[in-house]
Amino acid sequence: MPAKIIDGTAVARAMREELGPRIAELKARGITPGLAAVLVGDDPASHAYVRMKGRACEEAGMYSETIKLPADTPEDKLLELVDRLNADPKIHGILVQLPLPKHINTNRVLHRILPSKDVDGFHPENVGKVSIGDPTGFRPATPYGVQQLLLRSGIETKGAHAVIVGRSNIVGRPMASLLLQDGPGGNATVTVCHSRTRDLPSVTRLADILIVAIGKPKFVTGDMIRPGAVVIDVGVNRVEDPSTEKGYRLVGDVDFEAGVEVASAITPVPGGVGPMTITMLLYNTVQAASQ
Ligand code: NDP
Repeated sequence: MPAKIIDGTAVARAMREELGPRIAELKARGITPGLAAVLVGDDPASHAYVRMKGRACEEAGMYSETIKLPADTPEDKLLELVDRLNADPKIHGILVQLPLPKHINTNRVLHRILPSKDVDGFHPENVGKVSIGDPTGFRPATPYGVQQLLLRSGIETKGAHAVIVGRSNIVGRPMASLLLQDGPGGNATVTVCHSRTRDLPSVTRLADILIVAIGKPKFVTGDMIRPGAVVIDVGVNRVEDPSTEKGYRLVGDVDFEAGVEVASAITPVPGGVGPMTITMLLYNTVQAASQ
């Protein structure tokens, strides 16, 4: 029987509706949650992401500000901007869209954001809080979204063996922290794989829940998935497709057509993890405004 398709768009929509009353309550107290997005350079994908984030804020009735800087912006100018946003009472959340141009030290910029405004959850203080299960820490939006997707799809993580492929600071590592926590959406047994993992298919086949975030189109094939496993595909890759208007289409890190025949549930790309990421960023901004 083909796998159940986990509809991230529907879950994200429902979660944004639930956020409505919390935003209204804050506004009644004179606080409009505000998000500032900083974009350096002209990477088209980054521009598209930031546009989507701004639009999502406005639709939710939140305040949003996008600051676009040229690619040759010196690091000290960017740090000055972060300082200004840190001090701005209208702004509760700051995100600096990655990747930054090579001449800028990404960590120096990310670490300059006040932990209380770091809604991307990349500041070491938030990384530490998430790792020890302190709920005041901001959970990075993508793994937070994956966890919510699992919870709201009725997928039990307690006692399950979750195998994560990819160990980035944005997805893989914080995903492992969240799944290890003692609480709903946690209590999994977690294995994290990376490019040096020996015999990857033999590890992925052990997964009850397989989460893939490596950035390689259709890398995970059907034979790497245990029959009946839940597959969460975080990857977003552009592949050429002359039959489409844009000349490309988006595919995940998992071969979806093969995966759907083996898994019990699977996320599509697009329409799986992607819509959840922006929703969780809104949640974090509301959390920042409430805190
Ligand atoms: P990174 O490039 O930062 O990390 C990739 C990870 O995959 C690394 O840990 C790397 O291992 C590992 N890896 C690469 N090749 C292999 C391999 N052959 N076998 C095993 N592991 C491998 O990527 P990100 O985590 O930032 O993103 C991953 C994917 O998720 C991308 O497609 C990205 O576009 C997507 N993404 C989607 C989001 C969404 O909202 N849906 C948000 C964020 C990312 P090593 O550390 O050893 O190099």
